Amino acid sequence: MVTVTVKIMSLYLVILLVLAYVAWIKWIYYQHRRSSVNLLKHVMNISSDGETDVRALVVTAHPDDECMFFAPTIIRLVESNATVHLLCLSEGNYYNQGAQRRRELLSSCAVLGIPASRVTIINHRNLPDDPSAEWSVSLTSSAVVKYVSSHSINMVLTFDGRGVSGHANHVAIHKAVRHLASTGEVPKDCVLLSLVTVGLFRKYISFLELPLSWLLPSHLCCVIGTQGYKRAKDAMMCHRSQLLWFRYLYIAFSRYMFINTFQLIPQELKSLKFY
Ligand SMILES: [Zn+2]
Repeated sequence: MVTVTVKIMSLYLVILLVLAYVAWIKWIYYQHRRSSVNLLKHVMNISSDGETDVRALVVTAHPDDECMFFAPTIIRLVESNATVHLLCLSEGNYYNQGAQRRRELLSSCAVLGIPASRVTIINHRNLPDDPSAEWSVSLTSSAVVKYVSSHSINMVLTFDGRGVSGHANHVAIHKAVRHLASTGEVPKDCVLLSLVTVGLFRKYISFLELPLSWLLPSHLCCVIGTQGYKRAKDAMMCHRSQLLWFRYLYIAFSRYMFINTFQLIPQELKSLKFY
């Protein structure tokens, strides 16, 4: 009799803990919705009563990076009335599907809220979609800086040094942007941000990861709810050529479908403002 009572009590306790955890996630989500504009102003170094005129550039390596890794950010920036641009440094031609992948990228961007006029896809023989290719820092950084200056970009978002999936092309973009930060080739009021790569466990626990992202320090955190998730999923579905079985698992379980966190890449002098 005592054993049965203990078992029932334990079951209640587990249910209570699960409900409390889900409630905590909901609370964090609503807190985030309320504070996200101020967070954006803070990272842009704009006073809380100032106008937010964000002209953001997301720099990716391949068609599908934008929705696999950056969807929460793009969706939240578009919702905040930021002008969002995408610079994709290759056509994703590893399996000779470049033309199709170009079309898929434009459809995906349209779903996420980036019009085709703000999407640039580079097709350069020295920037191949190839994990074994070493992209030149000077070529990659010059493509980024050219876009930044011609479109008066004031926020650049890209991969961090681990590139989320570790792909060499992702890492090369990070190196190029870090190079720009150290040489001062981008305007000082342009904020450079790198997408935080998380470990395997955190990566595949979907929205349940939110409390960890919330608690750990980052300079920008972008979270989407069920509506945003549906849009991110629709964008993923535009990449028909990439929809292998494991992509469906990724859509179901990846935390990057719900949450993005970023760290600042400090510019030489600018870093003094933040630290
Ligand atoms: Zn990629």
